[in-house]
Amino acid sequence: MLNVSLIEYTAQPQNVVAIAAKLCYSGKNMQSLKEEVDSKDAGKFVEMLREIGHESPLEHVSFTFGVEGISRACLAQLTRHRIASFNVQSQRYVGKEDFLFVMPPSIEKDEEAKEVFLKAIQASNEAYKKLTKILKQKSSNTDEKAKEKSAFEDARYVLPNACETRLIVTMNARELLHFFELRCCNRAQWEIRGLAFCMLKLVKKVAPQIFKSAGPRCVRDSCKEGKMSCGQMAKMREIYNF
Ligand SMILES: Cc1cc2nc3c(=O)[nH]c(=O)nc-3n(C[C@H](O)[C@H](O)[C@H](O)COP(=O)(O)OP(=O)(O)OC[C@H]3O[C@@H](n4cnc5c(N)ncnc54)[C@H](O)[C@@H]3O)c2cc1C
Repeated sequence: MLNVSLIEYTAQPQNVVAIAAKLCYSGKNMQSLKEEVDSKDAGKFVEMLREIGHESPLEHVSFTFGVEGISRACLAQLTRHRIASFNVQSQRYVGKEDFLFVMPPSIEKDEEAKEVFLKAIQASNEAYKKLTKILKQKSSNTDEKAKEKSAFEDARYVLPNACETRLIVTMNARELLHFFELRCCNRAQWEIRGLAFCMLKLVKKVAPQIFKSAGPRCVRDSCKEGKMSCGQMAKMREIYNF
């Protein structure tokens, strides 16, 4: 089951962004800038920066999430975001016997589809276990741990996209806003959309002005999806203006 947590983030993220932006246009030294930001409402200043599109100061604050219970299919999409750092549970080092898996809701609600899906999962699990056993038995390596690792390494080729994984991801605020724009959009696939929404809820609590109006582009601007637009801008604005 999807479980997303905010493990760590830059302390006082809105102050850090405000200091970085103010420094560009001020002759004041660092201490004075810090005092000025501490005494004023950094949040309002950050909001203004977002409005005028001065985004580079947002790169000085980062957010680290723990993500559990996403599919490898979702992982493949998440890791396309290059301005992010990842650590993912290894299928070379961690055995996947009786692995947990993500079932798409469309399959879950249809008995016939669900049966086919579960059979495929079971077949994959059985093949994985058999392959692990065969590869371990036939390995010429004398080290038990090394034997196991090389068996996992090759047996994993039969694991499905549905197989659950866990990871840690860190993004700076500028990248997160970009990520939310793409992945909260109705055009994004349902699983990564759900993940993005959970991440947005977490960061909005700790940096409300940085993430004000974050979400799909249509929340603060017009939709650029053209013919592919979902046409649900009003509904999206309602959902994301929380
Ligand atoms: C609805 C949807 C459908 C998709 N379908 C497909 C698909 O069918 N096939 C497919 O392969 N992918 C698909 N993708 C993935 C998509 O092509 C991107 O790889 C992914 O969304 C990451 O976006 P990005 O490159 O903007 O962001 P990031 O990698 O997060 O980068 C952020 C920004 O940094 C800049 N940047 C990063 N790296 C470079 C670089 N090397 N050079 C120049 N600028 C850079 C760009 O401005 C970029 O927008 C899809 C994505 C979405 C949201």
